[in-house]
Amino acid sequence: MSLPLLCDLSRAELAAWCEAQGEQKFRADQIRKWLFGKRVNEFDAMTDISAPLRKKLAESFSLFSSHVAAHQKSLDGTEKLLLELSDGERVECVLMREDDRRTICISTQVGCGMGCVFCASGLLGLTRSLSTGEILEQVLRLDRLLPPLERITNVVVMGMGEPLANLPNLLKALAGLEDKGGLGMSMRRVTISTVGLPEKIRELARAGKSYNLAISLHAAENTLRNQLVPVNDKIGIEAILAAADEFFETTGRRVTYEYVVLRERNDSPEQARLLARLLAGRNAHVNLIPMNPVTELPFGDPGAERLREFVEILEQSGVVATIRKRKGADIDAACGQLRLRHQQPAVS
Ligand code: SAH
Repeated sequence: MSLPLLCDLSRAELAAWCEAQGEQKFRADQIRKWLFGKRVNEFDAMTDISAPLRKKLAESFSLFSSHVAAHQKSLDGTEKLLLELSDGERVECVLMREDDRRTICISTQVGCGMGCVFCASGLLGLTRSLSTGEILEQVLRLDRLLPPLERITNVVVMGMGEPLANLPNLLKALAGLEDKGGLGMSMRRVTISTVGLPEKIRELARAGKSYNLAISLHAAENTLRNQLVPVNDKIGIEAILAAADEFFETTGRRVTYEYVVLRERNDSPEQARLLARLLAGRNAHVNLIPMNPVTELPFGDPGAERLREFVEILEQSGVVATIRKRKGADIDAACGQLRLRHQQPAVS
């Protein structure tokens, strides 16, 4: 049996564990600082922790539960890790470099149960949710790809899975980054992307943090959204927007609406006008994501011309829109591409 993962514990839980060993609570912060801030990979390297406590830690916890099954580097500086978890399941996570920003994209589930028809992650359904430690481990692994003086500046929870379907573990992981001994990361630099689960959006608002919320809308009316995002059938755009409005009122954080632009499916001027009408008057930002073609799926990129026209219509209505830059396309690290190619089990 493998040992419990240290990162599954919150700062408070680790402090309680230290106390139970007859140690001072602040040891927890020291231990976490070694792991997050100083990037050590074994308890024995934690030199201000006494040898007996290091021994107890090593007997009680593992620092990592996964191993790196593949590491790819893109020409644009993007790097992608495929992590194999202790049960053999695999998740991907990505590091992107842009000017001074070092943004990581992390996964919250193995597979996804939402079934968006253009997304590679959901093709095989949901296998399971990740634990807090498994979410944090992606951060630790990606952070270790950076040179000593560089730090992760932004986290986007846009990898595999539906983050709000694994909210308790995600919130605990993010707290692990924010709390003393973690990466000291402001939650204003964290973006959580969701298919749009209204009750969970409200729960996120109540968490009282400054997370950014991104809602994967992809269509401005329910008939089309039901086709593209099947779970919409049970939810509906109106309920999502109502929850998003509440999120904005509670947190003061402007909501981003993501819109994967699919050739001849949701990219017409009429659809742009519908979207503009839906969002006009809201403090919203639209992030257009040109479809990243997935070999197995019959959806195409809209092309630059069509995309420009779409943006212009939104902007004429006063809706702020940006087009998402494609990153790591040569290593299949772009949105919606994660994992599929590695689906075949590795030969052990
Ligand atoms: N489940 C969450 C987060 C993961 S997906 C969500 O739905 O938001 C992150 C973003 O990538 C979503 O907006 C998703 O719709 C988008 N995406 C998925 N497949 C894509 C593809 N093939 N091309 C472009 N974007 C894609």
